[in-house]
Amino acid sequence: MPLFCDVALAVPLDTVFTYAIPPGMEPVVGGRVLVPFRQQRMSGIVVELHDRPPQVKTKKVIEALDLAPVLDEHLLKLGKWIADYYLAPVGEVFRTMLPLSAEFKRSISYSITDEGRMALHLAGMSGSPARSKRTPDEQLIEFRVLDYLAERENMREESLRGATRVGKALLAGMARKRWIAREDVSAARDAARLVKVAVLRSVETPVPLAAESDDGAPGVPARLDGQDARPSTNVAKKLNENQRTLIETLAAAGGMVPVELLRGLDVPRTTLGTLVRRGLIELIDEPQDFTTSGVKLSRLKPRQSPFEFEFSAAQKGALAKIGAAVASRKFGGLLLHGITGSGKTAVYLACMREVLEQGRSSILLVPEIGLTPAVAADLHQVFGDEVAILHSGLSDAERAEQWHRIRRGEARVVAGTRSAVFAPVSDLALIIVDEEQDSSYKQEETPRYHARDVAVMRAKMAGAVVVLGSATPSLESYYNAKKNKYALMELPDRVEMRPLPEVEIVDMRQEFQETGQEQVISRKLAEEIRERLEKKEQVMVLLNRRGYSPVVLCRACGKTLQCKNCAVSMTHHKRERKMECHYCGHVEHIPDKCAHCGSEYVYFVGTGSEKLEELLHGMFPQARIGRLDRDTVRGREDFERALNALNEGALDMLVGTQMIAKGHDIHGVTLVGVVGADMALGLPDFRAAERTFQLLTQVAGRAGRGQSPGKVVLQTYFQEHYAVQFAARHDFAGFYEKELQFRAWMHYPPYSAIANVLIRSEKLDEALTWSGELGRWFEKTRHEGIRVLGPAAAPITRLKRDYRYHFILKSPSREKMNVLLRAMLAEAAARKIPRTQVIVDVDALWLM
Ligand code: ADP
Ligand code: ZN
Ligand code: ZN
Repeated sequence: MPLFCDVALAVPLDTVFTYAIPPGMEPVVGGRVLVPFRQQRMSGIVVELHDRPPQVKTKKVIEALDLAPVLDEHLLKLGKWIADYYLAPVGEVFRTMLPLSAEFKRSISYSITDEGRMALHLAGMSGSPARSKRTPDEQLIEFRVLDYLAERENMREESLRGATRVGKALLAGMARKRWIAREDVSAARDAARLVKVAVLRSVETPVPLAAESDDGAPGVPARLDGQDARPSTNVAKKLNENQRTLIETLAAAGGMVPVELLRGLDVPRTTLGTLVRRGLIELIDEPQDFTTSGVKLSRLKPRQSPFEFEFSAAQKGALAKIGAAVASRKFGGLLLHGITGSGKTAVYLACMREVLEQGRSSILLVPEIGLTPAVAADLHQVFGDEVAILHSGLSDAERAEQWHRIRRGEARVVAGTRSAVFAPVSDLALIIVDEEQDSSYKQEETPRYHARDVAVMRAKMAGAVVVLGSATPSLESYYNAKKNKYALMELPDRVEMRPLPEVEIVDMRQEFQETGQEQVISRKLAEEIRERLEKKEQVMVLLNRRGYSPVVLCRACGKTLQCKNCAVSMTHHKRERKMECHYCGHVEHIPDKCAHCGSEYVYFVGTGSEKLEELLHGMFPQARIGRLDRDTVRGREDFERALNALNEGALDMLVGTQMIAKGHDIHGVTLVGVVGADMALGLPDFRAAERTFQLLTQVAGRAGRGQSPGKVVLQTYFQEHYAVQFAARHDFAGFYEKELQFRAWMHYPPYSAIANVLIRSEKLDEALTWSGELGRWFEKTRHEGIRVLGPAAAPITRLKRDYRYHFILKSPSREKMNVLLRAMLAEAAARKIPRTQVIVDVDALWLM
């Protein structure tokens, strides 16, 4: 066994750490080890085993946690590529790739230090003021903690707090004084992974079978252990329908079902809790090997097969091309550009099914908002137990469970959001990235990777095929297709030759002139809405801004109410009676006078989705209106409930932010009103036109997906802007051509790579000094072929208490840019600028 191992730890340092391997221990490359780091124990990934003694004294590995790698050589290689490309610490990359944090119980323990003993000793001396009656309460409590710890070793935080009744803040304060030492003990969980299983409870007094038919409940088979599992009749009588559904399903499945599977039933989550409280169901932990594949849940909502129709010629063509690329077992990139409603999803599912039939694996990436239960149901319908679905609603434990299923080869089809690109499938044949332009694929924290680009790299490394699908491809992907880096496939028509909706533009400046008032809903839109409501057709109205009013303005001094942590204005939320900052979440009372001058003339200006809903209620009191934005949607259930309500005709109108724009396939909607979607065009962001074009195209795509044709009324203040004009004409090619010209001219992607380097600090002078130092360093450093703009104050000059300055780097050569960025990080380290305060965002989506 080699003497040393290099370990990647999830800390913000661009290095790995060398540890000595104690005799008898056998860590593996790609496996986890527990090691001491600073005052803590941490788990990290072994990246190399070797015999080269390091310069400094090494500590020993505490424990090897895995016998086999958790990251195979492909994923290790991919992780190193990400660390290199995005200049991210490799340990933080691996942490992002592995959803296994749940396997470590974090526990913190405390012990008394020499200083602590000394303090206790001094305090104990007679006459010491520390213990006299005049001692403040807090000190007394501190001594209580010291007394307690002096007698014991390594007390767990919970026990210590239980015994001394102190708060975390106080312990933290004592640790700062070095009276006590804090240790983070992360212990590996038991080898066996556990899953929650619902078990039907037997009751004390079994009821004879004959009595059972009376109350109409079907017979419940005996439990596996031979006991009668039948709840007594009087209990059964008191069950409501949801509760009966659950009990009957459990019974039909043999009395035991993993809780996760029960979630697929059309029953509220709380029902299970109620039954557990009533003692009818018990939840137990079972080893994960507890097999679920034999369990059939008869009550799962039957869904139509996603393949009931004949594929169009274009769909068949795309399918054949993808199939051929997969069969070649070489890397291939394809861009599937299909207009909204052209049937892309069916193509994805069909290719994935082919791949599965060949015994190989595929991954489908979908945007955050695209993974609705409807999509999940389609996937289950086609792939049954072979699919693993990774979404943001999973708990850490559930995520880890899915990860293990995939790694064991039980699930060869994986669908999920951003991080599903790291799913540990073997024999990867195909990765599909749906809505590849979606910004949720970019992680806006370290490591700042883009899942689409990682997907392309992973496919390259694995000799697999990557399909990027979209109605509105990103400029980057479309450009790559034009340059023949990807094969371009088009689905130019909607299924069954349904027409794209007609788009009518309403110029809101003209509306103002004609009506003499600032309007939210134009006369044209109001008239069209009225018409649809009369015909019992459905309407969606988009306003891409949540809250009631986005600005509070003082008429006396002209100032607005700004967040105390950020240089942005606070938004008024009427129903929740508060002011909220949409950037940091800070909440304040609604002001009744100006914070600056005390004047009472404060006005609420502008309209958000909450106010829009109210206005529409006023105009159409008869209509049933729902709203979809981050204030009304707390979880996936809320989201789905609103869409279902629209789908089933329980709503006439749905108002909302961009959440309503993406991907839904609701046939009754014939009118889409766009009240505000062009705000971005006023921002200093070179992607504003692209984003606006995409949003307008997406939301227009919600209209006319059923039998009746759709219409879009597009209100705008930028009526001659090309993003608005091309979107209104459904002219993708025209938009791309124009936008590419602009990008070439301005040296923006796809013609240049860009990186945003952000320097931040809570102290303004620090942020200024650091960015000034780096600015001078950039000036005197040679960097041919790289443009460096800045330092400049970031467009949002203060965010979450940090003052922000930035540089923008542009270069046609990524390699050169990467080298310069690395040198800049080294310079920052040499100048003792903390690594966490210098953010390098390669291929940044936002320059704000
Ligand atoms: P996209 O993702 O391109 O917007 P979808 O895949 O959601 O489109 O398809 C739109 C609708 O058309 C879905 O309800 C889908 O089931 C249906 N569909 C797909 N292909 C066909 C086809 N060849 N014939 C009829 N309906 C189809
Ligand atoms: Zn004022
Ligand atoms: Zn804020």
